[in-house]
Amino acid sequence: MDERDTKIFKMSEYLKELSSEFNENLKLNYDLKKKNWFNIGGKAKIYYKAKNLKELIRFLKKINNQEKIFILGGGSNTLITDNNYDGVVIKLLNNFNNISLLSDDIIIAGSGVSDKSLSEFATNNSLGGFEFLSCIPGTVGGGIKMNAGCFGREFKDILISLQAVNKSGKLLTISVKDINFNYRDSGLSDELIFLSASLKGYKKDKSAIKTEVQRLVEKKELAQPTRIKTSGSTFKNPINQTDKKVWELISESVPLEKSFGDASISDKHCNFFVNKGNAKFEDMKNLINFVTECVFKKTGIKLETEIKIVE
Ligand SMILES: Cc1cc2nc3c(=O)[nH]c(=O)nc-3n(C[C@H](O)[C@H](O)[C@H](O)COP(=O)(O)OP(=O)(O)OC[C@H]3O[C@@H](n4cnc5c(N)ncnc54)[C@H](O)[C@@H]3O)c2cc1C
Repeated sequence: MDERDTKIFKMSEYLKELSSEFNENLKLNYDLKKKNWFNIGGKAKIYYKAKNLKELIRFLKKINNQEKIFILGGGSNTLITDNNYDGVVIKLLNNFNNISLLSDDIIIAGSGVSDKSLSEFATNNSLGGFEFLSCIPGTVGGGIKMNAGCFGREFKDILISLQAVNKSGKLLTISVKDINFNYRDSGLSDELIFLSASLKGYKKDKSAIKTEVQRLVEKKELAQPTRIKTSGSTFKNPINQTDKKVWELISESVPLEKSFGDASISDKHCNFFVNKGNAKFEDMKNLINFVTECVFKKTGIKLETEIKIVE
């Protein structure tokens, strides 16, 4: 056996061993296309479904920092390569979907809980401050990572503290005062896997919360496309460079009918890009690059993507 064959043999033995140890919670060559809102992407070498903390730590210790790791939340802010992802994609399930009240105004939510469920839980417990989450189609983990927000509120406004584990399996608690939140950015290391969060609201009349949720959902539906294959806002507003919103820059710089394969710009909101059918990763990347170039040529502003690109 030459050196290359030996390497391939060792890898296949290692994957077999992982498979038999973590059996139904671990899949090899797992298709990621259906696991993200764009419906784009190839296969992950390893896809691990973590059902509780003990199992997650056991898995992390087993792979022993030898693999590239990507934590997948709801996949609503993620563009994934069509090439095979040479690493581990971790999805947090079961125990990471728990949600409970710690006190009158504090909720503990697992990082796999959807933003919508968190908003509903808050409503049912007469807690205000979580209404905006009814408009964001991600999870608590993805929301904290992105400092997701809308209508003037963001995760940073409700977070008290975060429980996380690093990729070596070490547990830590991070207080909000130690997090350097910015617009659509938490500054938190990609080395961290968020487990759960303590989130603070305030007592509010249940029917007033429901009215507010409905108002926000209607406002959002008027302004932005829903029920399409998109990852929401493609670019961040360049808040330090101009007062203009990114959609204004795009609409004055880009021929909006431009598409690459099935990757195109939404008719309803030009910062939302859409997979109209079978767009490839390269199509979406070409569209992103095209728009970035057009805006730069016209305005001198270099746009930064809000969506996370996984290659
Ligand atoms: C139709 C539509 C509307 C949208 N509207 C808004 C909006 O109004 N405001 C807004 O801010 N965003 C919006 N988004 C974008 C998106 O919903 C948010 O960014 C959301 O918070 C992403 O959450 P997710 O769980 O889907 O994250 P994913 O897309 O799965 O991941 C995003 C990032 O978070 C990381 N991550 C996820 N979970 C964890 C974890 N447990 N630990 C560590 N890292 C983790 C991932 O590794 C990745 O880096 C919209 C998207 C769509 C499709």
